Amino acid sequence: MKNRKILLVNPWIEDFAAYDYWLKPVGLLYVASLLKHLGVEVELLDLMNRHNLELRAYTKVPSDKYYGTGKFPYTEIKKPDALIFIPRRYKRYGMPEALFRDKLRKIREDGNIDAAFVTSTLTYWYPGYFDTIRIIKEELGVPIVFGGFFVRNQPRLAMKSGAHIFTKTDLSYLPTYLNNVLGWELPSTNVDWFLDLSPAYELYDNIGYLVLITTLGCPYNCTYCIAHRNWERMKFKPVEKVIEEIERFSQMYQIKDIVFFDDAILINAQNHFKIILKEIIARGLNRKLRFHLPNGIHAKLLTQEISDLLYEANFKTIKLGYETTGKLQQTTGGKVRDEDLIKAAEILRKSGFTHREVSAYIMVNLPEQKEEDVKSAIDVCASVGIDFSLNEFTPIIGTDMWIDLVNKGSLSGLEDPVTLNNSILPYWWKNMSFNQVQNLKEYARIKKRTLEAY
Ligand code: SF4
Repeated sequence: MKNRKILLVNPWIEDFAAYDYWLKPVGLLYVASLLKHLGVEVELLDLMNRHNLELRAYTKVPSDKYYGTGKFPYTEIKKPDALIFIPRRYKRYGMPEALFRDKLRKIREDGNIDAAFVTSTLTYWYPGYFDTIRIIKEELGVPIVFGGFFVRNQPRLAMKSGAHIFTKTDLSYLPTYLNNVLGWELPSTNVDWFLDLSPAYELYDNIGYLVLITTLGCPYNCTYCIAHRNWERMKFKPVEKVIEEIERFSQMYQIKDIVFFDDAILINAQNHFKIILKEIIARGLNRKLRFHLPNGIHAKLLTQEISDLLYEANFKTIKLGYETTGKLQQTTGGKVRDEDLIKAAEILRKSGFTHREVSAYIMVNLPEQKEEDVKSAIDVCASVGIDFSLNEFTPIIGTDMWIDLVNKGSLSGLEDPVTLNNSILPYWWKNMSFNQVQNLKEYARIKKRTLEAY
């Protein structure tokens, strides 16, 4: 087979606001590993890597805020037509276009790229994906494959980018897809891309933190979420592989912050996550590294033993998925009840954690949610001494909740995904008004002051 080379691109985010809360294209890095394993040469361009060493020659890069997170550099751009009525500035976040084009021209001069692969995440960020693809086309003129969550969720819209679309979640379909679409002759493989391979962080010149996934899948069925549809069953990465990834990549970049972005890391914790924690402690990684769980762990699955291990292992961020109080807790899937959250907060405090490390996600603007549901969720958190953050609801196309909203006529089902952006929904969607959401944010601000008493 002719030696192939592919450019992997993590595209721009275009939105009214964006923050680098440990965003890394982990799926794309597994694509890189799988293709490397099959003999393909890969090159990475992560337009959203704030720690890229070349950025400072082109733009001012905001410094890190906490644990490697921070604001992205941005350029103000024209709003998409569907958002023209929103009285806010629209921005492209990430690598400046001039640097992106310079990098692509250098790649073209080197003359050996056969194709590009662009990934995607949130559906309402698609204008950024399309702009990224347009510029790759202008500069490189090679076939482009477009994959990731947006493509799976909105394949017809994704086709308008002019790229070939890869609509599978499971990367084991990718080699055959590339052979069919690009006429390549990649060999078949028995390797399990998740269990046997690691995300290809070695492709970066620099990173500020490491994001890892130790499990795939989630057994819950929350009506507002689509994550549980991605995988038919859960997969657990071998503990020794997880530890090897932590050690190898933290040394490679001299970084301190390790972030686990699993959807359900406490499932089967006795046989998996607990062993990872014990190994982190046994190897002394807790003395040089800080760990973070930003993806809303399941309060009802937290035990005192796991909590004590989290404390000893030097976890600095623990987010609990709470979402709301009231009857919606049960009707949206029943993953957590007030008593689960209260018990988890008590367990964590007993281990030594405070509101500086522990906080709960509370969703605002859920269908049928009352202002009182949000306020009482805030009150519950404040009463047990944990912090909280309000997340505005986004109806994800294809979820049970979205289907219900369409059936009831609250959504047409034909909305442009950019209009489903959670930060602009209150401007047009007849659920909570803009003022109601602002009032709840103000209520949260006041309540947060009481946390200092703990
Ligand atoms: S528990 Fe979390 S990941 Fe699982 S379905 Fe619910 S919201 Fe999604």
